[in-house]
Amino acid sequence: MISENLENIKASLPDHVTLVAVSKTKPIELLQEAYDAGQRIFGENRVHELVEKFPALPQDIEWHMIGHLQSKKVKSIAPFVSVIHSIDSFKLLKEVNKQAKNNDRVIDCLLQFHIAQEETKYGFSLEEVLEILGSVEYTQLENISIVGVMGMATFTSDQRQVADEFHSLKKIFEELKNGPFTGNEGFKEISMGMSGDYQLAIQQGSTMVRVGSSIFGARH
Ligand SMILES: *Cc1c(COP(=O)(O)O)cnc(C)c1O
Repeated sequence: MISENLENIKASLPDHVTLVAVSKTKPIELLQEAYDAGQRIFGENRVHELVEKFPALPQDIEWHMIGHLQSKKVKSIAPFVSVIHSIDSFKLLKEVNKQAKNNDRVIDCLLQFHIAQEETKYGFSLEEVLEILGSVEYTQLENISIVGVMGMATFTSDQRQVADEFHSLKKIFEELKNGPFTGNEGFKEISMGMSGDYQLAIQQGSTMVRVGSSIFGARH
């Protein structure tokens, strides 16, 4: 079942798009099943789940933190997390740098942008990010690497609106790529698209899709 879902989804993804299997709320056994089917990149949105699952599963898994992250909880995932998709404040970015340094690592980060109409979603505006990237303090962060941007569209059946929101994230990415990140080959990821909208996201330039329920089944 899971292997079939993975196979179908992977078959529909262009080569340049990375699949993050979102395993939040799902038990170890189901993650192992996906692992046995070849999946190596898993996304979780809660620190306690990451901390629980990491030691229980094979060590070559790349763990991605995709949910809102409180600064005080960075410490517990810093030893092993591969990518943090949900950087939504300068304070958080600085804390990730500090904890990465304590672990003698560099942690890949994505800047989360607020592209949805909904007020509940976290994320930066372009102005806020330009200010951070222009600061002296930012240039001193040696243990984080900003590898791209992340966003979530409004939860709506209006495909036009969702496509427009994804397009706005692509435009933000281009502005940063041609601005502060000029010449930085590492800045290349656009994390957007979930089970219901990943095809639309890919049409709008996504390089990383975060798919949960279409792989593991509905969450309760
Ligand atoms: C849960 C979640 C997903 C996956 O959602 P599905 O609809 O199950 O594919 C993607 N991104 C984030 C940030 C999530 O919290």
